Amino acid sequence: MEEIRLLKVINELGIHAHAAGKIVGLAGKYKAKLFLQKDSQEIGGSSILSILSLACPKGSEVRARIVGTDAKKFMDELESLFKNKFGETERGRYRLRKKKVKMKGFPVSPGITIGKAHHLDRSKTTVFYRKLINKKEVEREIDRFKHAVDMAKEQIQKFKSNIPEQVKGYAFVLDTHSMILDDNLIFDSTIQTIQKEKVNAGWALKKSVNNIHQLFKKVEDEYIGRRMDDVDSVSERVLSNLTGVDPDSLAEIKKEVIIVAHVLSPCDIVEINVNHVMGILTDVGGQTSHMAIMSEALEIPVVVGLESATDVIVDGDLLIVDGNTGDIIINPDPDTIITYEDKKKRYYRYKSAIDRVRHLPAETSDGYKITIKANIEFLGETKAAIENGAEGVGLYRTEYLYMIKNHFPDEQTLFDDYSQIAKMVTPNPVTIRTLDIASDKMMTSDSEMGASKEDNPALGLRSIRFCLNERNVFKTQLRAILRASVFGNFRLMFPMISGLGQFLEAKRILKSVMRSLDREGIEYNREIPIGILIEIPSATSIADILAKHADFFSIGTNDLIQYALAIDRDNEHVAHLYEPFHPAVLRMIHQVVTAGTREGIDVSLCGEIAGDPLAILILLSLGLEEFSMNIGSIPLIKKMIRMLPLREVRDQFKGILQLPTSEKIERFVLKKAQSLLPDIFKDDVFRYRAVGIG
Ligand code: PEP
Ligand code: MG
Repeated sequence: MEEIRLLKVINELGIHAHAAGKIVGLAGKYKAKLFLQKDSQEIGGSSILSILSLACPKGSEVRARIVGTDAKKFMDELESLFKNKFGETERGRYRLRKKKVKMKGFPVSPGITIGKAHHLDRSKTTVFYRKLINKKEVEREIDRFKHAVDMAKEQIQKFKSNIPEQVKGYAFVLDTHSMILDDNLIFDSTIQTIQKEKVNAGWALKKSVNNIHQLFKKVEDEYIGRRMDDVDSVSERVLSNLTGVDPDSLAEIKKEVIIVAHVLSPCDIVEINVNHVMGILTDVGGQTSHMAIMSEALEIPVVVGLESATDVIVDGDLLIVDGNTGDIIINPDPDTIITYEDKKKRYYRYKSAIDRVRHLPAETSDGYKITIKANIEFLGETKAAIENGAEGVGLYRTEYLYMIKNHFPDEQTLFDDYSQIAKMVTPNPVTIRTLDIASDKMMTSDSEMGASKEDNPALGLRSIRFCLNERNVFKTQLRAILRASVFGNFRLMFPMISGLGQFLEAKRILKSVMRSLDREGIEYNREIPIGILIEIPSATSIADILAKHADFFSIGTNDLIQYALAIDRDNEHVAHLYEPFHPAVLRMIHQVVTAGTREGIDVSLCGEIAGDPLAILILLSLGLEEFSMNIGSIPLIKKMIRMLPLREVRDQFKGILQLPTSEKIERFVLKKAQSLLPDIFKDDVFRYRAVGIG
């Protein structure tokens, strides 16, 4: 029995691997033999590769020949497979290019996106050595350098005027770039090298940059890294102006793409054109790095710590990025695309429902009032915090004014900043944290901030230890905070307190600053609450002692987890070991809550886990009722809280501190969450994994 028919390929993708697989599957059901012919080539229909070798795009015709028993039935079925487009729907419009590959990283900004990969090549501009032969050439080279610097400044200004609304608060990074261009270690030093060594401008600039690198050598610290990134970024801009080669810039991306980069610096984040950049993937980075925290403001999916994304992903690959789970799918098959397009729709529908409740109070369904505040790093974020429904600022990280200048900011600069935030947020409170910085994080060209290098800065002269060492710097900040306190509702918090003596010492300095303001007749809020950021295990152990001397506690889990589990929070190699649900961490939190409650002081939590939907259930069950979190997390957490019966949560979670591992705790919480809030936890359209649990 032989059956012959001409079949037309009408599906969008043509006979790709998925369709060929369906043909082979059908052929396997019959004893009869299938042959397919296109042009003059006829192949056996039981081999996917042979079918693919026919290369049948949409619109082509295939001659199908079936020989053997049930040939007609087989042919009918084959014909309907072609007619039904091999099960491909209209949405399966993406062409399968190569094998589907999956990767998993750390989700830092939620959302789902599907698009083409674009490698951000950060390879440096090649600079050649050229000896200048006479004075005229030297002068010309200096002019060329000055012109390239001016061009760079104009380019930076242009970026600044086009900066996306979402990251306006980070515009200062671009100001830093302009300032670096004027820095004598770059500008004067390059001109001097051109003059003295009679070399071309590019070579001289490279030398200046190398000298700065030497200066910062071995300091593997995020803050310093950020400064070096800035130096590299502006010098690259000048070099490309000198050579006429366009830099690979994020701001200049004109197509809709997903950026794949080995590393991005915070200044890259402010250059991003959010109209075109649909998502970001990086090889390096931990979840609580500042680049990661900043990238959430962009409101596009971002996954970091993928380790080999730049090796595995090829330019133009089709990618699915799930910023809720950290899943990356490279060259997905049409079925996977359809699944994710569905998931994406559900996620955005869901997100807009969440956004609608962001200004309503965070009151549980059984009437408990929970307070939700925002963590901010810069004054510019305050507006976004309020717009997202924050009822105050629970953590104002005050470091950035110290990072962007070549010298310690003066009292007036700090006062201007602090009084503005006080006025913007009042009557809601602002918890202002004193400087949390290490001496080696402030190395700049200016000797005033010169520093000694430390092998282990996270355990070094950082934060309150630095302030107690550099009393004048500390007192200047305290004066500015106190003076600004009359404009709003400030609470003052000392970070990295490890023992009572240190806290009392910090308070003594504060009192002496108060006395000097009294002598000068300057007004301030005498009743300003003074609290401790509990983020070192030694402080959790003596929380009962500290509670007798503090007005409030705020638990900083980002560092607490780092110090309790000995996990560097910025290191992607140990990021999988960063376990926020570790029983030790939960017990420490509980201990602090118990100690604070016993003494009748306020206890809140301001680490990143406060914004995690699963973690918040645990934290509520441990007795916390006030949280401060990343701005982007506020609407969802508020929505959840409004649906939660708190008494029942506390009842159901009673045994949680007895569970032995993070995994068991996560499974336990997820199960409870799915039964308590089925609408929210019914599937994985949003991020509900604990920060750090992969
Ligand atoms: C913390 O350590 O949890 C914290 C809130 O502070 P930071 O992330 O600035 O160290
Ligand atoms: Mg901290």
